[in-house]
Amino acid sequence: MKEMKTIGVLTSGGDAPGMNAAIRAVVRAGVNSGMRVLGIHNGYTGLMKLDMKEMDMREVSDTLHRGGTILGSARCLEFKKPEVVKSTAEQAKENGIDGLVVIGGDGSFRGARDLSLAGLPTIGLPGTIDNDIDCTEYTIGYDTALNTVSDCIDKIRDTTLSHNRCTFVEVMGKDAGYIALSAGIAGGAEAILIPEQKFDIQKDLVQMIMDCRARGKYHYIIVIAEGIGNTQEIADKTEELLRTEHDIELETKVCILGHIQRGGRPTVKDRITASQMGVHAVDLLKQGIGNRVVVKRDGKITDLDILEGLNMKKTIDADMLRLADILSL
Ligand code: ADP
Repeated sequence: MKEMKTIGVLTSGGDAPGMNAAIRAVVRAGVNSGMRVLGIHNGYTGLMKLDMKEMDMREVSDTLHRGGTILGSARCLEFKKPEVVKSTAEQAKENGIDGLVVIGGDGSFRGARDLSLAGLPTIGLPGTIDNDIDCTEYTIGYDTALNTVSDCIDKIRDTTLSHNRCTFVEVMGKDAGYIALSAGIAGGAEAILIPEQKFDIQKDLVQMIMDCRARGKYHYIIVIAEGIGNTQEIADKTEELLRTEHDIELETKVCILGHIQRGGRPTVKDRITASQMGVHAVDLLKQGIGNRVVVKRDGKITDLDILEGLNMKKTIDADMLRLADILSL
C-alpha cells in the first residue's frame, strides 16, 4: 500500500449547501493526518487544467456556515470521454496527487469511478439538494433545501389564504420527488405531485379541491416536483376544469422556487453530516482505499464500492407517502 502524502478535493455538478463543510472536513482531517491537501477549482475542469491550490487549516476558516462551494463547481462534458479521464488521472499522479475526494452527485460519481479505475484512488461524497442518489439515505444539502422550501411555502400560504387562491409551488428534485414530498408534508400542502407516483388531474386536483370546499376550505397549496412536467399547464387545466365542469372560479398562481433552493446557510444537519462524511473519506484514503462512495445507511456513515452504489435503486418512502395522504385534506 502506497502512503498518501497529497490528496485533492473538488466539488462537481450542481452545488449544494454544506459542500463547504465537507471541504473543510477533508482539509482539516487531511492536514491533521500529515497530508498535503490541494483544493481543485471548478470540478473536473480544474483537475484537467491542474487549477488548484494547497489548502491549510486557516484556508477553510469561516466557511462552515456559507452556502455554495468555495472551490467552485462545474459541469465538464469532456470528462465523460474515457481517454480524457485516463490522461487526467495520469497527469494528476505525475503532479503528486495520490488520492482524490469528489463531492457531487451521481454524474460526478461516474467520473470518480473512472478515475479510480484509471489508477487515481478516488472517494465520492454525496452532495446534492435533490437527495436523488440511490445508495445513500441522505445527501449533503438536502436538509437546507427542505428548510428553504418549507419557509417559502409558509410565506406563500399567507397570501394564498388572503386571496382564497390555489398556488402551485414547483420545487427542484430533477426526476425525483424527495424535496416535494418532505417539504410538502412540512408545509402542509393540500396535494403533493411527484414523478414516482402517477397522478390524475381530475381525482388528485379537481376532486380534491371540491372535497376541500365541501369542508369549508377555500385556499390550497399544491407542491409539485419539477420532474412532473409543465406546472403552468397543470394549473391552467385545473382552473379550466373547475370552471367548465363545476362552475367554480378559482384563481390559480404558479410559483417556481428555482435556484433559491440551492443557496443559503447550511442547516446543522447538513454541516454535521458533511463533516462526518469528509472525515470518513480521508480515513479511507489514509488506508490507501479508493473507488468508494461515502453514504448514510441505516442512520450510519459508511462506504460502498462506487459501482455497487451506482447500481442501487432506492424507492420513495411508503410511510411518507401515507403521511402526506392522511394529512393533506
Ligand atoms: P451531478 O454530479 O450533480 O450528478 P452531473 O451529472 O452534471 O452532476 O455530473 C457532473 C460532472 O461529472 C459532469 O460534468 C462530468 O464532468 C462528470 N460526469 C458525469 N457523467 C459522467 C460519466 N458517465 N463518466 C465520467 N464523468 C462523468
